[in-house]
Amino acid sequence: MGEFLNVPEIFGSDVFNEATMKQRLPEHIYNAWKTCVTNGSQLPLDVANEIAEGMKIWAIEKGATHYTHWFQPMTGITAEKHDSFISPTGDGCVIMEFGGKELVKGESDGSSFPNGGLRATFEARGYTAWDPTSSAFVKDGSLFIPTCFFSYTGESLDKKTPLLRSMDEVSREAVRILRLFGDKETKRVIANVGAEQEYFLLPKDLYAQREDMRLTGRTLFGAQPPKGQELDDHYFGTIRTRVSSFMKDLDEQLWRLGILSKTKHNEGAPCQHELAPIFTDANTACDDNQLIMEIMKKCAAKHNLVCLLHEKPFAGVAGSGKHNNWSLSTDTGRNLFSPGKTPSQNARFLVFLAAFISGVDEYQDFLRCTVASAGNDHRLGANEAPPAIISIFLGDELNAIIRSIIDGTKYKEQKKTLLRIGVDVLPAIPKDTTDRNRTSPLAFTGNKFELRMLGSSQSIAEPNIALNTIMAEELSRFADRLEAAENFDETLHELVCEAFTKHQRILFDGNGYSQEWKEEAVKRGLSNYPSTAECLPTYVQEKNIDLVLRHGIFTEAELRARYAIHLEAYNKMVAIEARTMLDMAIHQILPAAMRYTRDLCDALVVKKSVGASCNAESVLIRSLSSHTDSLYDAIDTLRHGLENVPKQAEAAAMYYHDTIVPGMNALRAEADILEATTDKSYWPYPTYSDLLFY
Ligand code: ADP
Ligand code: MG
Repeated sequence: MGEFLNVPEIFGSDVFNEATMKQRLPEHIYNAWKTCVTNGSQLPLDVANEIAEGMKIWAIEKGATHYTHWFQPMTGITAEKHDSFISPTGDGCVIMEFGGKELVKGESDGSSFPNGGLRATFEARGYTAWDPTSSAFVKDGSLFIPTCFFSYTGESLDKKTPLLRSMDEVSREAVRILRLFGDKETKRVIANVGAEQEYFLLPKDLYAQREDMRLTGRTLFGAQPPKGQELDDHYFGTIRTRVSSFMKDLDEQLWRLGILSKTKHNEGAPCQHELAPIFTDANTACDDNQLIMEIMKKCAAKHNLVCLLHEKPFAGVAGSGKHNNWSLSTDTGRNLFSPGKTPSQNARFLVFLAAFISGVDEYQDFLRCTVASAGNDHRLGANEAPPAIISIFLGDELNAIIRSIIDGTKYKEQKKTLLRIGVDVLPAIPKDTTDRNRTSPLAFTGNKFELRMLGSSQSIAEPNIALNTIMAEELSRFADRLEAAENFDETLHELVCEAFTKHQRILFDGNGYSQEWKEEAVKRGLSNYPSTAECLPTYVQEKNIDLVLRHGIFTEAELRARYAIHLEAYNKMVAIEARTMLDMAIHQILPAAMRYTRDLCDALVVKKSVGASCNAESVLIRSLSSHTDSLYDAIDTLRHGLENVPKQAEAAAMYYHDTIVPGMNALRAEADILEATTDKSYWPYPTYSDLLFY
């Protein structure tokens, strides 16, 4: 019998959420806060002071002694700097103090965060400002205040600010469309996100024995084990005890923080698992996903496990991604990607669908760039879920509807009439059962789109910024045309029909891994960037700069800064991996192989002297010697390669991709052969069998 956990009672108990604010703050203060959040206006200082006081008392009751502005710099992880509440009273004593100023604005020496050249070094200060739409919370003895992070001159240095901007944009444009359909009530449209998180759990002691895992989060070497995931015996399998007690602990911590952790199960690969929360607004979902990743790591350590969030910890074993389920709903909770039951609802649905399809097709490169990283290069385009070519899976039902709109033909044989948007009722569109088409990077799953290209370790901010922005862009073009239309129904039909016709090339329901699709995609003019180095330069193309400027998501400088940071992160990661490989090869692998060879040689000499047969020793010695030579050559080539990396970042990225990565692969191939040939007791680190089947 486990201990009873009163979930409704603990849920959100460590969060200064709306309910707590309502209960703890004077009514006029709560109302003032609510008005600011609704209108997006600034919080007056006296209101901030009162909120800060209420927050402080609550946090101290929860055991907090410190507070921190919590922000999401462009590294993709979160940052915090803790100050205690203490304030001296002059008589050797202290009181606990925390005012509106500390709540609302903070200053952080941001010089060591990447800024992509946005701040001159003499102006290294960064500022943080409370995002009153996200709740503060208590964790590890500190009050955490979610904040935006920006430079002295106001440029955003984080992932939250542009996400909030993009949510405002898509809301405004979506509301314009809703008005045209007679909706007078909706004030705001919300971008919703549910991010499914994949991860691996490994025993801490084994992990600690591998330098590659400690330094890079993945295995850079490792021969294939005799058993892989071919038996499919792990997927949804029973969860082992150590893991299930980790999951229980994790859930409890997440629930305390008001995170709607819902589903947990084993994934396809051995030691791989998944956690899915219930969806919320994109801003909260992004904060929550950061917390989920962080708490997973800490919680694993408590259970003598290590949580690996890397996209590809093991060669030959499925990697980890993040499924980003995205939709739009009104502030009254109506999902705008639900087909609906009346002609008008269906017309509205088709407008949003057409906008989405147009946006993804038109800005496929932009979207692709937001999921590009060194880690994700092992998944996208590498014959693993999902491919690097962006396409949308809609399912048979919806495809048939779109076809009939494009062709002006009858929808389904038995129907007598042509399908007229805004006149006919669409059939109910069932949640597509073929949605298990795992080869699709972006699938419509009944009332939302599931983007499956995200890397498991990345922040979900950027892909959602892209989805919101491209949606805002297309909706605004549609709204312009519809608002000016003389005949609304006529224009509506034209517009949707045009959009489907023009952008149908992005629709694809077949096997995304097949060679035929790659060829077909080229014919259709779709982009295929299998690697970060190839895709990233498209991030700052004219079209994308125009897009983000038009919607005020980034200034050109901000976009270019993000591009620079992306490139730099890729270059640094590959360099670290290459250096780690050299280190392990020189200090561990080469000596191990040599020791074993030497002992074989000693045995051979003794055996020969007594006239015993030593055929096995001879063959092994020859094979080991030859691969040791090749390993040495590969070390030399890679070392030499690293000495010649171009200075310029774009050229460096191409060089890493074209020269260093193949050099790493060559080195690994030799090391893995040596591992498979060498007596295990000589081998310097745990093997794949040890790690995956502990
Ligand atoms: P599966 O993909 O396994 O069928 P679900 O359909 O239940 O799973 O949902 C997976 C994720 O999508 C969950 O995080 C869920 O909360 C989220 N989700 C469900 N509906 C929506 C929606 N309308 N908008 C955004 N996310 C959603
Ligand atoms: Mg899914």
